[in-house]
Amino acid sequence: MTRHRIAAIGGDGIGVEVVEACLQVLEVLAQRDGGFGLDVTRFDWSTERYRRTGAFMPEDGAEQLRAFDAILFGAVGVPDVPDHLTLWGLRLAICQPLDQYANVRPTRMLPGIESPLRGVGRGDLDWVIVRENSEGEYAGQGGRSHPGLPLEVATDVSIFTRAGVERIMRYAFRLAQSRPRKLLTVVTKSNAQRHGLVLWDQIAAEVAREFPDVTWDKMLVDAMTVRMVMQPASLDTVVATNLHADILSDLAAALAGSIGVAPTANLNPERDAPSMFEPIHGSAFDIAGKGVANPVATFWTAALMLDHLNETAAANRLMQAVEAVTADPALHTPDLGGSATTQDVTQAVIAAIRGRN
Ligand code: ATP
Ligand code: MG
Repeated sequence: MTRHRIAAIGGDGIGVEVVEACLQVLEVLAQRDGGFGLDVTRFDWSTERYRRTGAFMPEDGAEQLRAFDAILFGAVGVPDVPDHLTLWGLRLAICQPLDQYANVRPTRMLPGIESPLRGVGRGDLDWVIVRENSEGEYAGQGGRSHPGLPLEVATDVSIFTRAGVERIMRYAFRLAQSRPRKLLTVVTKSNAQRHGLVLWDQIAAEVAREFPDVTWDKMLVDAMTVRMVMQPASLDTVVATNLHADILSDLAAALAGSIGVAPTANLNPERDAPSMFEPIHGSAFDIAGKGVANPVATFWTAALMLDHLNETAAANRLMQAVEAVTADPALHTPDLGGSATTQDVTQAVIAAIRGRN
């Protein structure tokens, strides 16, 4: 029997709640077919740890994670600690050394979930957004000088390397090729950002020659937001820079219904280090501790993780169970307009996995 070593990092706020709910579900799923086992190790890396020790995780944290097959992550951040500290102190401190350069966000409307696009006659939405996750606008380059003086300067330098753009482009083309419509939209802002994003356009055209069966087009990011709302069915796979895809995938999550159901995978496609799977939402302190966080995003996230671990049957079984549950409005949490709790949803998904409903 294959055993998978999973590192579970709940983080802060509802991150801990949804990861614990997800581990309950994964345990049942592993028992269901007897096909695989999970060895779960929990890490308390969080803002609470930062307050206690001055660090979100141990100095060799990313190295410790190399011993695992996958990482399940909740969310990090608390209202009174600046977001950039938590982002660089934990999430990017894991993604960057483990070279998880492809951030992949599937988006579709789950049964029973309201979407601003449902019933407006613009067709269905079934997208995968690929976000460059290692460089670009979030390369961390830049600085500040002359504090407080009129000539104070703050710069954020975007870094686009040929190697970095080629590998994300190739990943996106390969993903588009594996999907039925074989359709890729490459997003830039190369009319205004005339160095890095012109390189991005050029490399798209070069890599496209390796994938003659993929139909692809280019969009400027501003026009792309309009197309996502007005012609959702015209899109399939999308690739964009770190910043642009960050913004587009929040729009995508809203169009699909709720941030509480949106998953993401931070992939190391070469598999020379573990990949990390997380819901796209944050730690949501407005609802933390109340037991009402929607765990569906994390369940879907776990399905992506199982797929990555080649447990395809279990991933499909999990998504079928999740869809059976979202189809029932009595099992919607408050973010979806219902009154179910995290545990109501979790137990219903477990029952569906066991085949009792
Ligand atoms: P971050 O900076 O970490 O992204 P944020 O405050 O910008 O945090 P979230 O924490 O994602 O964003 O919360 C945004 C809103 O969405 C909040 O009102 C929160 O309650 C709601 N929300 C986010 N995730 C969920 C969830 N899983 N279930 C229910 N509501 C959620
Ligand atoms: Mg946010």
